[in-house]
Amino acid sequence: MYHRYMTMKAAATAETNEGVTALFHALSDPSRLTILRHLFLGEHRVVDLVAHLGLAQSTVSQHLACLRDCGLVTSRPVGRSSMFSLTQPDLVAALLARAELILAATGDAAAAHDMSASH
Ligand SMILES: [Zn+2]
Repeated sequence: MYHRYMTMKAAATAETNEGVTALFHALSDPSRLTILRHLFLGEHRVVDLVAHLGLAQSTVSQHLACLRDCGLVTSRPVGRSSMFSLTQPDLVAALLARAELILAATGDAAAAHDMSASH
């Protein structure tokens, strides 16, 4: 019984890990995080984000598409353009706050870690 439970739990964990990995991938780019954080201020058009963040329009569009595919951002048509906003501002804010707590608790070890190392 114990083992069956553990097997089911391991399978569920593997599925969950895939989802969590995909979510963290969406959050793993500095420009995407910058865009995500800026949307806490309110909904923006692509041209607004380009102006406010100093990123290239193609960069902003590409990252917004990624964030929208991941369900973190949504858009609504306004005239000829689209307004982008966060779908889960409270949850994303809580996640980012937790990430900052982990960074602080680990002495910013992740920031010093060489992410390009092969492992
Ligand atoms: Zn702005």
